Amino acid sequence: MARTTTPKPARQRDTVDTRPTGPEHAGGDFNARGRAALKDEFLHDSLAMAQTRLAGSRTATLAALPDAPELRERAYAIKQDVIAHLDTYLERLADAVERASGHVHFASDGADAITYISGIVARRGARTIVKSKSMATEEIELNHRLEELHPGLEIVETDLGEWIIQLRGEPPSHIIAPAVHLNRFQVAETFSQVAGEPVPPDVEDLMQFARRRLRQKFLAAEIGISGANFAIAETGTIVMVTNEGNGRLVTSLPPVHIAVVGIEKLLPRVADLSVFLQLLARSGTGQKLTVFTNLITGPRRPGESDGPEEFHLVLLDNGRSQILGTEFDEALYCIRCGACLNVCPVYRQVGGHVYGSTYSGPIGAVITPLLKGDAAAKDLPNASSLCGACWEACPVGIPLHDLLLKLRNRETREGLAGRDQSLLFAGFAQAMAHPAAYRLGAAAGRIAQAPFISAGSIRRAPRPADRWTGTRDLPPIAGASFRDRWKEGI
Ligand code: SF4
Repeated sequence: MARTTTPKPARQRDTVDTRPTGPEHAGGDFNARGRAALKDEFLHDSLAMAQTRLAGSRTATLAALPDAPELRERAYAIKQDVIAHLDTYLERLADAVERASGHVHFASDGADAITYISGIVARRGARTIVKSKSMATEEIELNHRLEELHPGLEIVETDLGEWIIQLRGEPPSHIIAPAVHLNRFQVAETFSQVAGEPVPPDVEDLMQFARRRLRQKFLAAEIGISGANFAIAETGTIVMVTNEGNGRLVTSLPPVHIAVVGIEKLLPRVADLSVFLQLLARSGTGQKLTVFTNLITGPRRPGESDGPEEFHLVLLDNGRSQILGTEFDEALYCIRCGACLNVCPVYRQVGGHVYGSTYSGPIGAVITPLLKGDAAAKDLPNASSLCGACWEACPVGIPLHDLLLKLRNRETREGLAGRDQSLLFAGFAQAMAHPAAYRLGAAAGRIAQAPFISAGSIRRAPRPADRWTGTRDLPPIAGASFRDRWKEGI
C-alpha cells in the first residue's frame, strides 16, 4: 500500500480562542457538574424551549400517524431479531459491501478503528477531512486522536451544530441538536472570532457565513467521514437521514468516504427501512421525514459522474458485543432519535454536558455505563426519576426506566452505591420487613422533623436531607399513619 508523506504547506484553520465555560468544564463528578448547570438560567431557558418544541412536534406528528403503535411494535421486533442474530447479519452486511466494491473493517475498539482510519489518512496524504453525522466517532474521540497522529491534519465537522461546538471546544449536548444550549448571540460571537470581524447575530447571516466557510473545506478535503443511521445487511447500503445538505457533500465530494458505524445499527432488509424512517424523524424532530435521506452503496461505479473512489465501512464494537445476550441488550435497539432526551425531566434541568459522555439523557444514562463500565459512570443510572416518560416516547419501545433500575441493582451488587445510599436503603428494607421497626422509625421521624416544618412543608433540612431541600420542599411524614387513621375509622 503506497504511502504519501510529502509535506504540504500549512493552511489556515478555523479555531477560536475560547476557554470553554459550560457545566461540563466545572470539574468534579455528575453531581458537581449538575449543581453548576442548575445555576445557569440561560441553559434552562434554552433547554425548556427546545424540549417543548421538539416534544410538542413529536406528539402532533405521531398522533397523525394512525398505525404508530403497530410500527413501534414492528421496530422492536426487527431490532430484537437483529441483536439476537447480530453475527449472521454482520457477515451478510460485510459480504454485500464487498460485492459493491467497498472495504469493511471490524474494529474491536476505538484504538483499532483509529489505527485503520489513520492508515488511510497516511496512504492518501490527507490534509483536510470533512465529517458529518457521527456519534460513533465522538465516542472514540477520533478527531483528537487523528490530529495527534497526523500533525497539521485539519478535521472539520460540517453539521452546523457540530461545527459550532467544535469551534468552541465543547462536546455535543444533545444527540440530534448538539448546540441546543447556545443562542444566536453566542454563535455570532464564535463566528466573529473565526472571521476576525463581526458576524451579525442574525440567523440568515450566520447560515451564510457557515455555508461560505464550510464550502472551502468540502472542496479541499481528501477524505469524508460520516456515521450512518442504519446499515442494511441485504444490500450493504448505509442510510443517513439529515436536514442539511452537508451529508451528501461529505459522502460524495472527497475521493475517499469512510463510514464509522456501531455494529448495532444494522437492519436486515431494505423493506425494514420504511418502518424506521416513519418513526425516526417524527420521534426526533417532529418532521414526517427529514429533508435528506441518503442511501449509499459502495464507491462510485464506472460511468457514474460523482461519488468517492474508495468506500470504507468501519463497524465499531467498542464494548457493544459485551452487552449482547445480557439483561441489557435492549439498549442496543436504540436508533438515536433523541426523543427520550426531549421528555426527560432531569435532562431538562441540567442539559447534556453534565452526563460527561457522548450520549446524554436517558439513553446516555443507560448506554454509558454499559460501554465504559459502572465505575466510570456510576452516577448516571441514578440521574432519573424513573417516571417512564422516556420509555413512552421511545419509538422502539426500549424500557429505559427498567434498564436504569437494573443498572442501579448492578451497581449495588458491585459495591459502587454510596455509603449513605446503602445505609438508607438497608434501613428502609428493615423497616418494610418489620412492622414494629417501621412504626418506631415513623414516630421518631415525626418528632425529628417538627422543628423544620414551616407552612406544611420542610423547606430547609439538616444533612443529609439538605441535598433535597436545597432545590425543593420535602413533604413531611404525615401526623397519623394510614393504620392509625383506619383504626379510628378515618
Ligand atoms: S432510547 Fe429510544 S427514544 Fe432514546 S434515543 Fe434511543 S431510540 Fe430514541
